[in-house]
Amino acid sequence: MSITENIRRLLRELPEGVELVAAAKGRTPEEVLEAVEAGVKSIGENYVQEAEQAFAVVGRRAKWHFIGHLQKNKAKKAAALFDMIETIDSVEIAREIDKRCAQSSKVMPVLVEINSGREREKTGVLPEDAERLLREISALPNIKVMGLMTMGPRFGDPEDSRPCFAETRRLYHRLKELGLPAVEMRYLSMGMTNSYRIAIEEGANIMRIGTGIFGQRRRNRNPAD
Ligand SMILES: *Cc1c(COP(=O)(O)O)cnc(C)c1O
Repeated sequence: MSITENIRRLLRELPEGVELVAAAKGRTPEEVLEAVEAGVKSIGENYVQEAEQAFAVVGRRAKWHFIGHLQKNKAKKAAALFDMIETIDSVEIAREIDKRCAQSSKVMPVLVEINSGREREKTGVLPEDAERLLREISALPNIKVMGLMTMGPRFGDPEDSRPCFAETRRLYHRLKELGLPAVEMRYLSMGMTNSYRIAIEEGANIMRIGTGIFGQRRRNRNPAD
């Protein structure tokens, strides 16, 4: 199926209020453009350099979500390009984004990434550390926490994701009930190609789908980024 057909099918299938983000790592700017022209409103990028290449073709016709692991030395470019950063997992990177956004009077919506699979090599904060991180970064004036993001296990049975998604959803509601000033819990970003139906059942409202839109991934185009 073509990119366009995949997007139309997904947009028909997703319930109202669930936002589709096309996860575009390893794709050409032309593929990303096709996705946008087919009706996807947001593009998820893992690498700043790849995002800049796609941005040069697509521009502000889409919203740009950063979904990769952000290096401090890329924070300036990321602050300028992205409309949301989904992968905040440390005070340090939050401060860096805050500082760069302050320079352009921008307030960056961010999600806190939760390591719900508790995998050691994974990014994200452990669920029990999320509240402390949230309290620390909610004081930063040029970022705004708007929810949580999680990956869950990448391989194996999609059902293995369910307990991770459920735990992240419970955490989301608990953090929302804290009513922290300057925190607006609105987005729960969970679910990829193999797990998005489970993520919907578990209350997610942002889906990040790559292979289900673009087909099997080729080799990473920007291994050094
Ligand atoms: C690649 C990626 C996705 C999409 O994964 P697919 O299995 O291709 O749908 C979603 N989220 C993040 C953070 C990713 O890196």
